[in-house]
Amino acid sequence: MGGSADRPRTRLGVVGWPVAHSLSPAMQNAGLEAVGLADWRYQRLPIPPELFDETVAALPEASFRGVNVTIPHKHAALALATDPSPRALAIGAANTLIFEGDGRIRADNTDAPGLIAALPFSAAGRTALVLGAGGSARAAVWALIDAGAREVRVWNRTPARARELCAELGGKPVVGAEAADLLVNCTSVGLVPSQEPFKPLPVDADDVTSYECVVDLVYRDTETPLVQAARARRVPVVGGRELLVRQGVLSFEMFTGRAAPIEVMRRAAGAR
Ligand code: NAP
Repeated sequence: MGGSADRPRTRLGVVGWPVAHSLSPAMQNAGLEAVGLADWRYQRLPIPPELFDETVAALPEASFRGVNVTIPHKHAALALATDPSPRALAIGAANTLIFEGDGRIRADNTDAPGLIAALPFSAAGRTALVLGAGGSARAAVWALIDAGAREVRVWNRTPARARELCAELGGKPVVGAEAADLLVNCTSVGLVPSQEPFKPLPVDADDVTSYECVVDLVYRDTETPLVQAARARRVPVVGGRELLVRQGVLSFEMFTGRAAPIEVMRRAAGAR
């Protein structure tokens, strides 16, 4: 058994339900080790929704400096914060909580700037088609508009949700796909292998050439059909693991105040 000398002095973690599949512990611990924070540890925190508030409120007493937050808690995380960032408020979701030690909880959303940082070109003046109207689509639409995109079109399986998102955040709801500079998949299509991998998206494998860059938030053990289709047609791709890394490095820097070792974290997350 490890004695108190082995106990981390500062803890971080990822709160989700479920969270067993998360690559964040491997990625963040590799980063902590690389910058010499030997007594910091980042761990999984599987917490069901009904226990989210009371458990997270107790974390600062248990040496936690902050946590990442994933499905289904991003909305609850924002509600718990005493000091939410303007972008987390606008998006309506937080993926990063920082415990300030005096009872204050800062909240931010690093999914949005992470997406912009991952793009191979500036979003300013560009057009985008965002697929989906859930939590990650909200962050993507907000981020693209904030970065100066000329038009952000939003398609969703349930069209009413796309209309609601656009009424709140901006963007233009659409019922089909048109050519644009960027295609951003924020649906969970592609997560589970399927005989009809694009169904019911409004784009098929051959349509990816209508975009200068294809972004797929989904990640799994093998590349998603959308990413495979884009790579096969030499369309530049940003995959879900790279987006995980980008949001993760921004959270790392907020937690530690250190520059994140992005290549180390990218390797640990299996991104390229
Ligand atoms: P969410 O809030 O649950 O939204 C899910 C979205 O997917 C909705 O727009 C939903 O459409 C759509 N959808 C689900 N099943 C579908 C199907 N069979 N056909 C068409 N559309 C379908 O989830 P989220 O948080 O936005 O996450 C979406 C995906 O992004 C997940 O796979 C998640 O793991 C991934 N993600 C990755 C990162 C990263 O760092 N790489 C970050 C966040 C999320 P309806 O409105 O019609 O139900």
